[in-house]
Amino acid sequence: MSLQQRTQHQSALDRASAVVALCRKCGIGATRTNSVYGEGDPCAQLMVVGEGPGETEDKLGRPFVGRAGELLDKMLLAIGLPREDVYICNTVKCRPTLDTGTRLANRAPTPDEMRNCRPYLDEQIEILRPRVILALGAPAAKSFMGEKFSITKQRGQWFDGPLGVPVIATFHPAYILRQTGGAMTEVKKLVFADLKAVRARLDEPVPATESTPEQVSLFD
Ligand code: URA
Repeated sequence: MSLQQRTQHQSALDRASAVVALCRKCGIGATRTNSVYGEGDPCAQLMVVGEGPGETEDKLGRPFVGRAGELLDKMLLAIGLPREDVYICNTVKCRPTLDTGTRLANRAPTPDEMRNCRPYLDEQIEILRPRVILALGAPAAKSFMGEKFSITKQRGQWFDGPLGVPVIATFHPAYILRQTGGAMTEVKKLVFADLKAVRARLDEPVPATESTPEQVSLFD
C-alpha cells in the first residue's frame, strides 16, 4: 500500500473512532471508561475481531491488552505476524459490564449492543478491506456467520463475510486460558491449525482484481 493510502485509511479510522467515542446508543456507553475502537496497521491484510473490551482494555482504550491479549500476540507471532502488522478490534467498542454490587464484572455483549455497534465494525471493514477476518470466539463468529454457528464444529472453516471478505473463526484466547493441562494443549493445537489456515490464505497471491490502483498504473 502506498503512503497516501495508508494516510487515508488512518484518517478515516481516526474520524470514525472520534464518532464512536461520542456514541451513547447503549447503556454501556455511559458506564465505560474509554471506548475501545481498535488499533493496528490501517492497511492490514488481517483483521482480528474479538468480543468486546474487558477491564484492562476499558482502562487503556486499547483492544486485547490484558492476559488474553498477551496470548493473542503470541498466537499471531506463531504465524509470523507481529501485532502491529494486523488490525485488532471487537464486535462492541464499549466494555459490557455487570454490577455485582461490589464490583463491575465483564459480561458478554447483548444482541442489542452488538446490533447497535455493528455499523462501526462494518465501517472498519470497509476502510481496511482486509484479505482475511479472524473471528475470536463464538460471539464474534456468530456476528458474522449467524446464530446457528457452532464454534466447536465450524471453527477453522471459511465463510463469506462482509464485502466478500473471507472469515474464519477460532477459539477465543480467554477460552484457551481457562483450560488446564491436556485440555489446554488440545485446544492450542486446534487454534494453531486455524491460524495456519489464515497464514496459508494470506500467502496466496493477491488476485489481479484486488491489486491497488498504484500497482496497475505502474504499467500505464
Ligand atoms: N477480549 C475481547 O474479546 N476483546 C478484547 O479486547 C479483550 C478481551
